[in-house]
Formats: sequence, C-alpha cells, structure tokens
Amino acid sequence: MLVSLRDISDSLLNQLSKLLNKKSDTPEMEKAFLDRIEKCLSCNDLKEKKIKAINIEKAIKICNQCKCIFPYFVFAHRKKCPIGKWGPINTDQTDT
Ligand code: SF4
Repeated sequence: MLVSLRDISDSLLNQLSKLLNKKSDTPEMEKAFLDRIEKCLSCNDLKEKKIKAINIEKAIKICNQCKCIFPYFVFAHRKKCPIGKWGPINTDQTDT
C-alpha cells in the first residue's frame, strides 16, 4: 500500500486543527495515536533514512511498507497499517 492523498490530508488536517486548538482529540483517539506510535517504533519496517537538501542532512524515519514518514501518518485516522498491526480510528463522535 502506498501513500494516499486522503491519508496525507487527514494527517495534515488533524495536526493543523490541534495546533490551532480547533479540535481536541477524544481520550480514545489519543490512546489510539499513542498505541500506533508504540507499535511503529517497535516495528522492524520502520527505517531511518538520511535526506539531504541544500547542504543540510537530516535523519527521518520511514515505514518500509507504505513509504510514509513517521510519525505523521499515525495521525491519519482512516489509515491502517499495511501489515495489519493497527487499523483505522473511529471518529464518529469527533467529526461533528
Ligand atoms: S505502519 Fe505498520 S508496517 Fe509501517 S512501521 Fe508502522 S507498524 Fe510497521
């Protein structure tokens, strides 16, 4: 499974909403995000890669399966782990 535009927009909108204090996550969502982070951090498919732009080298973590940049993809509530370690988060109570 490759990166989808829907997952990228979900992740960006969730993070932007948090930054602007427009939306607060439910305790269930916070728990689900933390659970995803813990699972990804202990997963052998999360690899560190070095990127270089304008003479600045930086290390980032990328999922070897979906090629998403960690931790951004864990905030895309509809995304699921491509090898089934975690699934989508139900946001029925928070989308209103
Ligand atoms: S999304 Fe799944 S496969 Fe990718 S790093 Fe996280 S747990 Fe591993």
